[in-house]
Amino acid sequence: MIWVCTKCGYEVESDKRPDLCAMCYAAMHHMIPKKEEEQPEEKKD
Ligand SMILES: [Zn+2]
Repeated sequence: MIWVCTKCGYEVESDKRPDLCAMCYAAMHHMIPKKEEEQPEEKKD
């Protein structure tokens, strides 16, 4: 899958989330999947 850095827009293909952006060294939580997959929200009563 492809990850996109939300800070600099750098894209990297990796099976799992990169630890750091190779371009701007943003932390991993800035990397988001490029393919917008709807993440189901857990709605529990
Ligand atoms: Zn970046």
